Amino acid sequence: MDSDADQVAIQFQERRAQTGRRLRPWFAMAAVGFGSVALVFFTPFPSSEYWRFWLLFGGFLAGAMSFVAINLVIQARYRCPACGGTVSDDRGVLLNPDTCPRCGARLRP
Ligand SMILES: [Zn+2]
Repeated sequence: MDSDADQVAIQFQERRAQTGRRLRPWFAMAAVGFGSVALVFFTPFPSSEYWRFWLLFGGFLAGAMSFVAINLVIQARYRCPACGGTVSDDRGVLLNPDTCPRCGARLRP
């Protein structure tokens, strides 16, 4: 029960877990960014123009940076061990597919 196909699936699951761990801080940063922007729009507290600007600017900056970082991490790490391609189809990245959309290798043990 230790065939090459199993190895591909096991290796993919390791990469998947590792990608998740590396993405976590960026998702946290994106959440902070959205929270910061939401604060400007959805709270009535009397804030100065200065703070509103920095909450908006910082929020969008954090959101944009985490968007770029998340894409880079996925491009670099979330790949099929059999063919090396990114695990995505025309709808986007597949979170835990049974098989590789490019080469058809089994990705779940
Ligand atoms: Zn593949």
